[in-house]
Amino acid sequence: MKFGTKAIHAGLEPDPSTGAIMTPIFQTSTYVQESPGTHKGYAYARGKNPTRNALEKNLAALENGKHALCFSSGMGAIDAVVKLLRPGDEVITGDDLYGGSYRMFTKVFAHYGIKFHFINMNDANNIKQYINSNTKLLWVETPTNPTMQIIDIAACAEIAKANNLILAVDNTFASPYLQNPLDLGADIVMHSVTKYLGGHSDVVMGALITSDDKLYTDLAFIHNSCGATPGPMDSFLVLRGIKTLHLRMERHCFNGRKVAEYLKNHPRIEKIYWPGFEDHPNHDIAKKQMRDFGGMISIVLKGADKEETFRIASSFSVFSLAESLGGVESLINHPVTMTHASIPKEERERVGVVDNLLRLSVGVEDVEDLIDDLKAVLG
Ligand SMILES: *Cc1c(COP(=O)(O)O)cnc(C)c1O
Repeated sequence: MKFGTKAIHAGLEPDPSTGAIMTPIFQTSTYVQESPGTHKGYAYARGKNPTRNALEKNLAALENGKHALCFSSGMGAIDAVVKLLRPGDEVITGDDLYGGSYRMFTKVFAHYGIKFHFINMNDANNIKQYINSNTKLLWVETPTNPTMQIIDIAACAEIAKANNLILAVDNTFASPYLQNPLDLGADIVMHSVTKYLGGHSDVVMGALITSDDKLYTDLAFIHNSCGATPGPMDSFLVLRGIKTLHLRMERHCFNGRKVAEYLKNHPRIEKIYWPGFEDHPNHDIAKKQMRDFGGMISIVLKGADKEETFRIASSFSVFSLAESLGGVESLINHPVTMTHASIPKEERERVGVVDNLLRLSVGVEDVEDLIDDLKAVLG
């Protein structure tokens, strides 16, 4: 089955009791048992819920994986992956990460004796020098947030296999429509479902997908034991959102390209980060591992101080100033004060997260209106 058909049908069956074509919202916490321990596979809703399980099957299909688990947030999903580790274990990850991931690694798990190396992964060979006998996990985000670096997933997978590491890829920015890390050799794919998968800025959710039975068993144990599981209503909203994922992504990519091209030579723009440009440092890898380049764009405003950057960020009428991304509506974000506020100034500036950087999540509105909005503010 091809992607759009899977988005609409995979994992879903008409409800056996009524024929309802949409998966019902099984709003229940528990299930009646015939005799103690004898039930239809459902005992308690933290462990299993039919609405959530339908979504998990759908997500597994979209990522060409065998198993999926849904979490109550993207952070809940990342938390479960790190809980596969033990004190003394080491993780190698990128130096341009979602701010919340950086915060969880440094402010929560570092206290549990897990060591994190935040390194430049633009050349995957750079990873090798940080590997030692304690290294267990390679955590890769690509494209990165917010500077849109592209990390070579297949090259990372080769290094992970050779050194017996788990390779987990945060695929939030690309969505399964643009990129399937398991096909490139990753062991685990993570999504903030909140973003493109949900797509309508109305749900917070996370997911993990894997084809490895042992990893799935271990993650499912953590999922049920630690309990960051989403409710059935949110699962329903995401199932509904995914039915148009391929249509939305097509438009995100189309609009993203038009907006990037408009901004590229704009006199007010000092720098633009978008992997679709041939002069993007890893454009060739983007072309190799992604089907298109998406609607996430970051820009550095020329000669703007923080005040001027704030004024510009607050002046749009179609773009809304807000955290998050991947919804139908276009958003603009100031990473330094919003999504990446928890990263120390020195560290963020080293990777280009400067005061005059803005991140755009280009939505699926009519692109002429988006460009008019940019023109009205930037001139
Ligand atoms: C938003 C985001 C997360 C965290 O997901 P939540 O659903 O907000 O918990 C992780 N990684 C990336 C790349 C994100 O954009």
